[in-house]
Amino acid sequence: MKASRRDRGGSGVGGVPSERFAFLFFVNGLVLFGSPGSGKGTQAKLLEQCLRIPHVSTGDMLRAKGAAAGSVVVATMEAGALVSDEVVNLMVEDRLSREDAARGFILDGYPRTRAQAEHLCCWFDQRGIRELVIHLSVDYNVIIARLTGRRQCPVCGSLYNIVSQPPRVDELCDRDGQRLVVRDDDRESVIRERLDAYERQTRPVLDYLNAAGRRVYSVDASQGSPEEVFQKIRQALETHDRKENVG
Ligand code: ADP
Repeated sequence: MKASRRDRGGSGVGGVPSERFAFLFFVNGLVLFGSPGSGKGTQAKLLEQCLRIPHVSTGDMLRAKGAAAGSVVVATMEAGALVSDEVVNLMVEDRLSREDAARGFILDGYPRTRAQAEHLCCWFDQRGIRELVIHLSVDYNVIIARLTGRRQCPVCGSLYNIVSQPPRVDELCDRDGQRLVVRDDDRESVIRERLDAYERQTRPVLDYLNAAGRRVYSVDASQGSPEEVFQKIRQALETHDRKENVG
């Protein structure tokens, strides 16, 4: 599971250097935690480029499954509510058991309920996986502005925001030129429902993780460009790395 310290990458994308962090010695499971619109998906993609471990997004996986996941799953997502723990736990276990996740992975959008958190912690402990939870903390008003302006490439999944992070050419993806779309669950009434689900079901997960003695770092992700937030995450990881080195 350990990464080689000599294992360095080449040039990064979007100004983010792609050398690996030494922290992969001490962490295999990076968990990005935060409300919808906190920037988990964007940061996960930057971390994926940098660390070259897979980005595992439960939202993307459920959307990709689409109708095959069953009509209940699709209807639940369209309403902005949470898909059942049983479906999501199985899907994540299956994904994390694949070869490409053996060295490490970045979880985005999971765990989102107390039951999922308990399941994941147990799964980590059984396999000796050392986790680090990065909590992206963002003001409510910033979240609303971000979600209503969000656009996504339907092909590669890249995320944009028409105000804070527009594509180079209006409404077209920088990477593959595809026309960007508004996700069904980014409509305003659904956004409220998603934020509600976060407050009721997901925020308490943070208390659970803290009380369970899991390693949780909070990063202020309200301000600054994605690259600036990324640098804060990087700092948090390096601080963690130093502590583990000493301890
Ligand atoms: P966001 O975090 O911006 O809400 P995601 O793409 O992570 O967007 O999730 C979209 C939807 O997928 C959620 O509103 C929910 O219906 C479903 N979903 C994603 N992850 C989970 C999870 N861990 N548990 C239950 N439902 C989930």
